[in-house]
Amino acid sequence: MTAALRQLADDLRAILGPRGVLDEVTARVPYECDGLAFMRHVPDLVILPRTTRECAAAMKLLARAGVPVVARGAGTGLSGGATPVSGGVLVGTARMRDVLEIDARNRFARVQTGVVNVDLTHACEAHGLYYAPDPSSQKACTIGGNVAENSGGPHCFKHGTTSRHILGLVVVTAEGEVLDLSRPLLEPQGLDLVGLFVGSEGTFGIATEATIALTPAPEVVETALAIHLDLDAACDAVSQMIAERVEPSAIEILDKLTIEAVENSVLAAGYPKDAEAVLLVEAEGCDVEVRATMDDVERIARQHGAVDVRRARDAAQRTKLWAGRKGAYGAMGRVAPDLYVSDAVVPRHRLRELVRAVTEICRERHLKVANVFHAGDGNLHPNISYDRRNPDELRRVLEAGDEIMKVCIAAGGSLTGEHGVGLEKLSGMEWLFTRDDLAAQCRVREAWDPMVRLNPGKTLPLRACMETRTKEQTRS
Ligand SMILES: Cc1cc2nc3c(=O)[nH]c(=O)nc-3n(C[C@H](O)[C@H](O)[C@H](O)COP(=O)(O)OP(=O)(O)OC[C@H]3O[C@@H](n4cnc5c(N)ncnc54)[C@H](O)[C@@H]3O)c2cc1C
Repeated sequence: MTAALRQLADDLRAILGPRGVLDEVTARVPYECDGLAFMRHVPDLVILPRTTRECAAAMKLLARAGVPVVARGAGTGLSGGATPVSGGVLVGTARMRDVLEIDARNRFARVQTGVVNVDLTHACEAHGLYYAPDPSSQKACTIGGNVAENSGGPHCFKHGTTSRHILGLVVVTAEGEVLDLSRPLLEPQGLDLVGLFVGSEGTFGIATEATIALTPAPEVVETALAIHLDLDAACDAVSQMIAERVEPSAIEILDKLTIEAVENSVLAAGYPKDAEAVLLVEAEGCDVEVRATMDDVERIARQHGAVDVRRARDAAQRTKLWAGRKGAYGAMGRVAPDLYVSDAVVPRHRLRELVRAVTEICRERHLKVANVFHAGDGNLHPNISYDRRNPDELRRVLEAGDEIMKVCIAAGGSLTGEHGVGLEKLSGMEWLFTRDDLAAQCRVREAWDPMVRLNPGKTLPLRACMETRTKEQTRS
């Protein structure tokens, strides 16, 4: 460690206390990557502020030192967003876990952004309220990470992704200023900076507090498991549900390899091992509404060859069915040491064709792919099992990942449904956007962070940003 870095650590310790600064290498190594585990870089320092005020004071110091800064919640991201590729200081929110206020009458909560997603629901369920966006990682991921990625989840089919639920934010800028974007709550005045911030992947500032809309718990919930002997047919059933405007709250597909992994694990949910695919569908609302929706779901599933449709209203049965789905990535650890989770969005009438295309891309490269995805949103998650210690296999995985993106974009889809661009999809931005589109995005980023010190090397391709800057300098 250089003398300058040692001095910086001491100055930060004066603000954050001894437990707020990690400088020993053994303490920093756990922060070297997120869920995109083949990309790693140990940060030079890790800091763990407890409050907005501490965070702002530390950020002022880091601005003076001119070092790169990377925010991190729980590190469950899957696109390398929290990986400090350019070194510098990692700002973790693990000590910012307070639920500051629950206003049950007006259905909102104010939290520090290190609060874990599911803990917010636990904190407000006594009031008959919950936090609707439910990433499958919700037992670990933080509200700050959800805000930065505009995260989704199975029930976002009905309730919308994170952006629909964030009413306000407190943000510490790259320079250490505090922006309170949390008032007025109901009718924001001026530019929608909260809307702009959600999904900015840690490149605009550090969100330290969030004001969040809470959703009333539904009167009735029913979950159906439709059992298919053919993945194509399961995809077609979803396409038809969308076309017929059937509106459950969640529509998920799990394919055979995923079912096997789940059923062979401690999360065994009772999915039949001889099925080629299962549809997991949930409806919520009043009794009549739920019954009608689930009758439509069952009719369409059977029209598309479902051999059985099991319906559950009992909370314990439903929890088991969802635990299998939400634990599916973990269960894939049985198949290989590493999992590459791709994430793309496709038009929902083309699900069958694009799931087939993904299968073919992986088959050609001798890769094992499992599909478990938010089918109702057209959000594909091809999960490729591999071993990162095998360089040739890793090369084939990355090649397949790029090819999958290209096919989905060509079909009118998008690069990412919910996991963000991060490091993983940087090159894909140039496949999706024109130079002018990228230049506009770079200018917005630089308005928040002129020196591009926040999460450098992520989300927007540097080349496009440099070109914009050169063009503007030439013009002036
Ligand atoms: C098993 C598993 C299942 C998953 N399922 C889903 C799913 O269903 N839906 C979904 O959308 N995602 C899913 N994910 C991906 C991931 O959980 C989400 O992207 C989540 O929002 C990341 O939260 P985190 O706290 O772990 O953030 P991190 O991984 O720590 O960070 C993610 C990004 O947010 C930035 N960031 C973090 N905190 C802040 C902050 N306070 N201010 C500014 N920027 C910040 C980081 O710099 C980084 O760019 C899954 C991941 C796993 C491992």
